[in-house]
Amino acid sequence: MCIFCKIAAGEFTTEFLYEDEFVLAFRDLEPQAPTHILIIPKNHFENVEALSKFEPLTVAALFRAATELAESEGLVGHRTVFNTGASAGQSVFHAHLHLLGGRPFAWPPG
Ligand code: 5GP
Ligand code: ZN
Repeated sequence: MCIFCKIAAGEFTTEFLYEDEFVLAFRDLEPQAPTHILIIPKNHFENVEALSKFEPLTVAALFRAATELAESEGLVGHRTVFNTGASAGQSVFHAHLHLLGGRPFAWPPG
């Protein structure tokens, strides 16, 4: 079982900030901004490409969660990111949407 499947299964004391039928959210272990939340599908998919093919409604659920969390965190602006593939910086191969906020962000991203 991958690390995010284990978190989803409740194997750790991870606090869930949001949960619905399809997704759940928790804080990143190594936050890159004052708010850094990971929103994941409950089912295992390697990345957002696979998720989009097999569970497109879950992609919408990820963004609905991001919108609600941005509001509950009081974020004025925020950034949402999917890293897809090691060359794009993906290190955990269970699809996840990063929600980052609480500081300014540069563009283009590194
Ligand atoms: P990626 O690099 O795949 O886009 O993002 C993976 C993220 O998962 C990283 O920001 C990393 O800090 C976070 N992460 C890795 N392992 C754990 C963990 O066990 N718990 C939590 N909360 N975050 C994790
Ligand atoms: Zn998984």
